[in-house]
Amino acid sequence: MMQNDVMTVAKGVLTSYLERNGCRKTPERYAILEAAYGMGSYFTLESLSDKLAESHFNVSRATLYNTMRLFIELRLIIRHRFQTGTRYEACLATSSHCHQVCTVCGSISDIDIPEMVNVMRGVKLKRFRGEQYTLYVYGVCSSCAYRIRKAQAARNQ
Ligand SMILES: [Zn+2]
Repeated sequence: MMQNDVMTVAKGVLTSYLERNGCRKTPERYAILEAAYGMGSYFTLESLSDKLAESHFNVSRATLYNTMRLFIELRLIIRHRFQTGTRYEACLATSSHCHQVCTVCGSISDIDIPEMVNVMRGVKLKRFRGEQYTLYVYGVCSSCAYRIRKAQAARNQ
């Protein structure tokens, strides 16, 4: 899906939810959704709030938090709990995915593991209907590994 289509689908999900539940279609909710989907990859509430402020949309911390909770419920946003803190991700375009998390610097990168699709299809879940999965591979990224090796070499001299 193109980024614009993703945005349209995401807005559609929000609109139908608001209409079904008799909620007001406040411009804040749409502005937050649009900003979240424009964030690229993982983001914090602070960075989202900064981005909204940039476009002169000042929403309170409570509004932002409650709106993000709604988006998580609607599966428009995924909340990740990394060691370095909570990160959010606009997730409509990508369904299931795998992340590499560096335990030294906290950097997160995505990785394609095609085999995981078949593995997860064969997994029997316990009284649970699975819809998506996220796999975290924890370890040390190559630049941290390089720095550690260099530091060790320097110590051994
Ligand atoms: Zn690292």
